[in-house]
Amino acid sequence: MKKKRKKKVKFTIYFYILVIVVVSIFLFVFLNSDGKEENKTNNNNTNTVEKPTVKEKTEEEIKLEKLNNINEKLDFFKMEYLDRYIAYKEKNPNLDDETVVVYVNIGLDQNFYTNVKDSPFKHTNTVLANKYYFLGKDYVPKNLVYINSAYQSGGKQMTKDAAVAFEKMAAAAKEQGYTVRATSTYRSYDYQAGLYERYAANDGKAKADTYSARPGYSEHQTGLAVDVDNAYSSYTSFGNTKEFTWMKQNSYKYGYILRYTKETEFITGYMNEPWHYRYVGVEIATYIHEHPMTYEEYYVRFLDK
Ligand SMILES: [Zn+2]
Repeated sequence: MKKKRKKKVKFTIYFYILVIVVVSIFLFVFLNSDGKEENKTNNNNTNTVEKPTVKEKTEEEIKLEKLNNINEKLDFFKMEYLDRYIAYKEKNPNLDDETVVVYVNIGLDQNFYTNVKDSPFKHTNTVLANKYYFLGKDYVPKNLVYINSAYQSGGKQMTKDAAVAFEKMAAAAKEQGYTVRATSTYRSYDYQAGLYERYAANDGKAKADTYSARPGYSEHQTGLAVDVDNAYSSYTSFGNTKEFTWMKQNSYKYGYILRYTKETEFITGYMNEPWHYRYVGVEIATYIHEHPMTYEEYYVRFLDK
């Protein structure tokens, strides 16, 4: 009796094991096929989502392709300028796409003094004043100070940073046997207005615009620009002096850049001015010295985002 019972128990255990194995196999097969089915429907879904986008490109995508999708590479690309980029590229087929974006961001596709903006970064060393960005009638830089009288032609003021840097630069030049003297620095709105009016009366507005800023647009109003001479010859012949060569090689070390050259007149809107320097700080000046470009180009690439 005892033996018989033991046998029955053994049989029951085997039976249950068998049931578990069969159920497991069934579940495995069932779940697996269900998973595959799911994958299939997933694939179908992605197919139905993908197909139309490949077929029908948006207007924006077509335009971006005309610019070889340069927007993906440039963090200063502005989607709101897309049509201007396309138009400028069509007018200037020799320019590469990156240059097109840089030039349009500066505003070169529009005439000087047409689509002007109130300049941001006021009261900082990066403020931009040009034929697209204005400072306005009321802008007076903070911290104007007089430059050490040893390095200027009389009563010349700049912002503190710019003045200190100028003094250091002029002192370094002097130590090496050169004279770099500030002859025109900060100019108020009213002073610039008188200056421009006089030039325009003599030469006509178009000519005056090539060498004099309209009031409110002058870099001199920022307190960060300086015209220099060597104290012996007129500032207009500074480009022929040994001091000019020294400045080309050294001004960046003190945060100053040469602002207007013949080659960049189409960007800045000003004729060659070997005497006009702009304080932007050592870091930016050094970058521009190592990667020659106008301040406008630097500005749209790194500051105007
Ligand atoms: Zn100047």
